[in-house]
Amino acid sequence: MLRHLSAISEARGTAMGDEIWREERLLIDGRLVAAAEGGVYDNVNPASEEVLGVAADATTADMDAAIAAARRAFDETTWSTDVDQRVRGLRQLHAALVAHQEELRLTTVAEGGTPVALTYGAQLDMPIDGIEWAADLATSYEWVEDLGDAKPFGIRSHRYVRREPVGVVGAITPWNFPVQINLAKLAPALAAGNTVVLKPAPDTPWTALLIGRLIAEETDIPEGVVNIVSSAGHDVGQQLAEDPRVDLVTFTGSTATGRRVMVAAAGNLKKVFLELGGKSAALALEDADVADAAASTAIQIMTHAGQGCAITTRLLLPRAKYDEGLEVLVATMGAVGYGDPMEPSNLMGPLISARQRERVLGMIEQGVAEGATVALGGGRPAHLPVGYYVEPTVLTDVAPDATVAQEEIFGPVLVVQAYDTEDEAVALANNSAYGLSGAVFSGSIEHARAVAGRLRTGTVSLNGGLWYGPDVPFGGYKQSGIGREMGRAGFEEYLETKAIGEPA
Ligand code: NAD
Repeated sequence: MLRHLSAISEARGTAMGDEIWREERLLIDGRLVAAAEGGVYDNVNPASEEVLGVAADATTADMDAAIAAARRAFDETTWSTDVDQRVRGLRQLHAALVAHQEELRLTTVAEGGTPVALTYGAQLDMPIDGIEWAADLATSYEWVEDLGDAKPFGIRSHRYVRREPVGVVGAITPWNFPVQINLAKLAPALAAGNTVVLKPAPDTPWTALLIGRLIAEETDIPEGVVNIVSSAGHDVGQQLAEDPRVDLVTFTGSTATGRRVMVAAAGNLKKVFLELGGKSAALALEDADVADAAASTAIQIMTHAGQGCAITTRLLLPRAKYDEGLEVLVATMGAVGYGDPMEPSNLMGPLISARQRERVLGMIEQGVAEGATVALGGGRPAHLPVGYYVEPTVLTDVAPDATVAQEEIFGPVLVVQAYDTEDEAVALANNSAYGLSGAVFSGSIEHARAVAGRLRTGTVSLNGGLWYGPDVPFGGYKQSGIGREMGRAGFEEYLETKAIGEPA
């Protein structure tokens, strides 16, 4: 794959960064428009700290217009009832994204600091394919389920269940997997017959706004069905969560913001669907190849500089093999290259912003203040003075309830802990307010499966196996969220259930 990337670059004969997509306009009611007051804000490349350009800074008037358009499109067009129209629109969107995939790839790297290698998987190519998956599901879905005849209260009746769209969906997304998360909400919400107002993260507006441009220019998706509203601040997100014309809020972001969104949505008792933070543990069991477990965990924590909600950020090692595991971990993390996200061999680029870098460095400091030892990294890399980079970092001697063992850091920082018994390992893994993901390594897959059954998390990887895909439901237990994204379960989050009885 890496050679393939270089080949693309050479074939073009250009610097890949020249071809990023610049889109600053909002999509409201089918039109690409500037913000009502003409406001814009800077879109910054986190690897170079350069201003790439600007994006529309929407006001509450823009959000109001977007919600009104989505409401009208749901109530007054055939979108909610015409499955064929929706499938056609989704397939057109898929074709448009494929046609512009390379500009989108470079934009994802430029504004998100996303390593280009990751765009060939979960950051871009897979979510684009996921649109086809959602369109196929809408085509084959059993929209009406026949429950047959019965005689409730002595009245002979025929009963069936219809699945119908929820209505207007407010979608609020983070910056770390911008295309993936925007599409993982848009595709099933639209396939199910809803209309949508999408509010992307302030740090990654262009990838969202370009989806808006493609919808407006290259699909027949009716006006108002999709509205995309970027802004520098969070007020319009709060407004979207509060507005009584919105029927469902789907949110991905931090647990603290998720809580605020839930409170805001309570006014009209909107359905709320939350994908939140994580503090996932990788467990190397006594019978595991700890070197393998340590190397695999090292690669995970460095992927996108640890800015993934489901990344395992704690490694639990059996005390007897602790030194061996730690040695491989530190050697691997120290050897993996990182830096420029446009360099195809880098799995790790910068953090998204200076604010996020300072937050991560502050948490490392707090870990040390609470007794942790820095076994690797711990600061800013001297060889990368420009860009929001943090060194790959390993913290040991971490108490189970220390802040760095409990709170999401969202950087390339791994906490390593030793355990004496398997019960203690499982208890440590579950000693978290979160429950998003986890990994188990064992010499026996049956043993790994048994331990997976004891983890209170929404996804688990066994011996490096991957659970990710458009057909796989993703989400969290406990404070990692409510509901599931992707898969059939994710599609059904966007549906209401209507039971009907008629004379048999
Ligand atoms: P964040 O919570 O700061 O922001 C997420 C979105 O919410 C942004 O669009 C932001 O503008 C908006 N927002 C902020 N305040 C709001 C409010 N009061 N009302 C409505 N909207 C508001 O998250 P982030 O820093 O952008 O992303 C990182 C977080 O996202 C991490 O905690 C990470 O674990 C989480 N995340 C979770 C998943 C998942 O699927 N579970 C996936 C990716 C990221």
